[in-house]
Amino acid sequence: MSKNPFETALTTLQEASKLAGTEPNVVKMLSQPKRIFQFAIPMKMDNGELEIFEAYRVHYNDARGQVKNGLRFVPDLDLDIVKALGFWMTIKHAVGGIPAGGGKGGVKVDPSKLSEGELERLSRAYIRKLPMKGAWVDVPGADIGTSAKTMAWMLDEYEEINGFHSPAAINDKPAATSGTVGSMEATGTGAFYVTMEVIKDMGIQKGATIAMQGFGNVGRIAARLLHDQGYKIIAIGDIKGGIQNPEGIDIPKLEEYALEQKSVVGFPGTTPISDKELFAIECDILMPAAVQSVIHDGNAADVKAKVIMECANGPVTPEGEKILLANKVHIVPDVLTNCGSAIVCAFERTQGLTDSYWDIDTVNAKLKERIVKAYRETVETAEKKNTSYRNAAWINALDKLSESMKARGWV
Ligand code: NAD
Repeated sequence: MSKNPFETALTTLQEASKLAGTEPNVVKMLSQPKRIFQFAIPMKMDNGELEIFEAYRVHYNDARGQVKNGLRFVPDLDLDIVKALGFWMTIKHAVGGIPAGGGKGGVKVDPSKLSEGELERLSRAYIRKLPMKGAWVDVPGADIGTSAKTMAWMLDEYEEINGFHSPAAINDKPAATSGTVGSMEATGTGAFYVTMEVIKDMGIQKGATIAMQGFGNVGRIAARLLHDQGYKIIAIGDIKGGIQNPEGIDIPKLEEYALEQKSVVGFPGTTPISDKELFAIECDILMPAAVQSVIHDGNAADVKAKVIMECANGPVTPEGEKILLANKVHIVPDVLTNCGSAIVCAFERTQGLTDSYWDIDTVNAKLKERIVKAYRETVETAEKKNTSYRNAAWINALDKLSESMKARGWV
């Protein structure tokens, strides 16, 4: 039976802490959130009826700084999901060297069923009712079902409540409301920088081949940047199907096509490919950039890539990972590969606090520096401890969290 996500997170903590030699009191502190807020948002709908929405915010751990990020507006939200996501954000921030703790939250709602006005009222109400917030305690950002637009409403509401501008209080807002440039592209760009380091380390040659699942915000940007460097993207899948061309897909043209068609399927000059074939294709790098658990014990043995870059969250199951590692397939874990947006969110807060806004070259140069450092630290620990990159990333995160908790006298 599959465990609930918080139990899964705790199992990972138990395993990683054994490898890291983490003190029991640190594990105890990390086994539960520091604060949980659960509140109701009553709201008059457009038709005059009253609806009451369930809302959550978890401050999982703030030993390394204010908690940050992730508000989901989804119909299947519950406290265990929010706790698990808050814990993973704590780890991701530590892996990425971000001086912040982990937070997550949201509202149990299907935003596609709300009018624009209802969505705005709900977004504003969430911020009004959130008990602890602001640049020095909790900086919410966008996640599934929220966007730059919802974050701009939240910022505006926060500033109305307080009576002064406070751009560092909310992340993922548009640049026009004192946000940062490069936030939408940050995860794909960060994944690209890490992939280029992996390519160097593994001696993968120019013209090497890449297969990818997902051509959204993350996959599309990573594909564009890798294509620009001369790497061949030979297969891409999305929710409607997949395409392949062993000579390499023309990514700039595919971007235009996918924007219009809302899918990669049917792109001229390609032939169809199923998900099963995509994961088994002969290639150097496999980039799952769509959804979780797509590489598992049923298809891991078919993977022929030398390395898997986990752009999505949790695309490889633990059972799949065992098979891949036995077959000497490297896995660069999600907490490292996709931490680019978490890093740029930290930059967004810094820019808001200093009232000084950077250009895209500055944002990307700082992102590259930070994410490549995180990758190098991971490789070093993996070599020192003779373990996988995933274990190494978690060991580094737990070490950093332990250090902060000890320095604060918590443990
Ligand atoms: P997106 O919605 O922009 O794009 C998702 C892509 O995956 C689309 O091409 C979609 O068609 C495809 N897809 C969805 N379901 C699929 C399925 N069942 N089978 C095959 N393809 C499917 O999302 P995104 O922002 O690109 O995020 C992709 C992944 O990266 C998600 O797992 C997300 O949690 C993770 N992630 C995103 C960010 C970010 O900043 N956007 C940060 C960290 C992690």
